[in-house]
Order: sequence, then structure tokens, then C-alpha cells
Amino acid sequence: VRAARLHTTEDLRVDDVEEPVAGPGQVKLHNAYAGICGSDLHGYYVPRPPGPGDPHPLTGAVRPQVLGHEFSGTVVELGPGATGADVGDRVTVLPIYSCGRCAACGRGRSNACRTIGFHGLTSHGGGMAEFTVVPASMLHVLPESVDLLLGALVEPMAVAWHAVRTSGVRPGQSALIAGAGPIGIGLWFALRAHGVSSVIVTEPSEHRRSAIRGVGADVVVDPAGEELPERLVEHAPDGIDVAFDAAGVGAAVSSALDVLTPGGRLVVVASHERPMELDTDRLLMGEFSVTGSLAYLPEDFTGVIEAMAQGRYDPAGWVDVIGLDDVVGALGELRAGRAMKLLVDSRH
Ligand SMILES: [Zn+2]
Ligand SMILES: [Zn+2]
Repeated sequence: VRAARLHTTEDLRVDDVEEPVAGPGQVKLHNAYAGICGSDLHGYYVPRPPGPGDPHPLTGAVRPQVLGHEFSGTVVELGPGATGADVGDRVTVLPIYSCGRCAACGRGRSNACRTIGFHGLTSHGGGMAEFTVVPASMLHVLPESVDLLLGALVEPMAVAWHAVRTSGVRPGQSALIAGAGPIGIGLWFALRAHGVSSVIVTEPSEHRRSAIRGVGADVVVDPAGEELPERLVEHAPDGIDVAFDAAGVGAAVSSALDVLTPGGRLVVVASHERPMELDTDRLLMGEFSVTGSLAYLPEDFTGVIEAMAQGRYDPAGWVDVIGLDDVVGALGELRAGRAMKLLVDSRH
């Protein structure tokens, strides 16, 4: 069966691999859609030593690695003892492998497990293949009203949902989203679902500004322009209650701290390529808190799926579908900033 496999830096191939079989406690999925994300770009472009690499401490996986950790599919086979889903169920997958023994796991934070692994990044198999097998415990069955395309968006939307829960924002408060990539868009949907309607978005790319406007955000500004102070006076005269760094650059963090209300909170949800200098006196003087938010927990998947069932997520204008053979070209398009979210349809 066909699978998109990362062999090493800038070497991704669609290979013919053996069809997987569901072992004890596992289910076999006929994959539908799989999103390409920043970690796939990172894996593809960041140089690493040749060869298979060290086996992952939890999963034992080595390269070549089948990609696709944001994916949906249909259950086609249950392994011995697998429960929680039936053949024919349409599902999405919470792709985290956690050890269950470390300090993070012991505190209910499997998303920050010290030896975390992801199905489709550091495991046997992934969503960019005709079939894959996963532990049945990873499945979230999709309700009738959530299609397989939305199903593949649950994972990235859950990253944003978790950040919104981490922020502690309450209905009626104000929020700022720095960065309107897929996670920024996810933050916008999640904030709306949490009763937050006063939202300002900052994004330097005109392409991304228009994408988030397309799903309904109405206060979207260029951080380099002069519009922000004006919009703040209009929408949050006392400052912003919660700000989200979905941009991953120091300037986004600094300007978020400029607009927080006393006691406000900044949630960092993007990975930064470079460390930044942080003027801690600003935290002191404003009694600001800064929190990191990583991946998601099962309740974030449940929350997103429920909100999708209520029609709160719209993929129009920022999601495009490509075939398995187009993945390499798509990585280039994403890197150049010419695409937002691309889903690979492994069935074609
Ligand atoms: Zn991802
Ligand atoms: Zn752990």
C-alpha cells in the first residue's frame, strides 16, 4: 500500500509498504485526510544525520517515517481485545504516545510527557498512507454531522482549544491573537465557542489576514501598521485580558505585553526558532502572567468535536485538499507561505 515516508532531510517519497495488521488492542484505519503541519516542515527541512536515527524511546520507531499526525479515517479492522469503536466508524486520532510514568504523566499532563511520541511523526505508521494501525484508545469517533475533512482538522484545532482553556478566558472578556496561520484561525474559532467575541487579530501577511477575515474575524490588523492603537481604544479600552502568541516571534510577544490589561495573561502556543529577550519588569509592573500551552488532552479533542457538530468550524477559504503524490510540492508551497492548511487525501 502507498505511504508518504520521510527518509531523511529533503527526501520524502511515496513508497509501497506492507499493509499493516491490527495487533492486540489496536484498530486498523482506512485513512481519509491528513494535514501537513509545521512539524512536518521542520522534519523535512532541518538537517539531521543520515540513516535511520535512534529508535524512539517509547515507540521504537526509526526512519523512514510515515508522516501524517493530523488525520481522519474509517475503522476497517479491530485487533484482539480492541474496544471503543466498530468497523465502519468514522474517526479521528489523538496521536500522542505517553509513558504514563514521568512527572508530567503523573500530573495528568500526558501532552508534556518527557518521552512523548506522535503517531505520524515518531511511530510506526501515520495518516499519509492508505492504511495505518493505532491503539484503540487513541480514537475519537466522529458524530454524523462532522465529516472526514473536518475530522482531520480536529488535531490542529485542539492545539488552539487547549490554549484557550489554558488562558482561563471568560465569556465577555477581550482577546488578542498574534498570528493568523492555522493555529491563529483555530484560536479564533475556539474563542468564539467560549463566548469571547471581542477579538483583535494581528498578522503581517495580507494573504493570512484575508483568510481569517473569511471565517468571520472582523478586527484584523497589520502589526506594522498604525491601526492597532485605534482598534484597541474601540474594542478594549482597558487593555486585553488574554493574548495568544501564535506567531512564534519575539515581536509578537513584546507587542502583546504592550496591550495587556493589568493582571492579563499571555499564552505562548507557537514554537520560537530563536530565543528572545524579555523585559521582566513589564511582567512585574502589570502583574502579567505568561503561560505555555502544548498540544492537547483528550478533553480538548472532545470539546472541538462537539463544537464542530454545532457548526462552529468552517474550513472554507483556508483549507485545500491535495493527493498523496503532491506532498513534496506542497511542503514547498507551505514553506513559501503560499498555502495555509493542506490536507492530503490518501485515497487518491
Ligand atoms: Zn501538527
Ligand atoms: Zn510521560
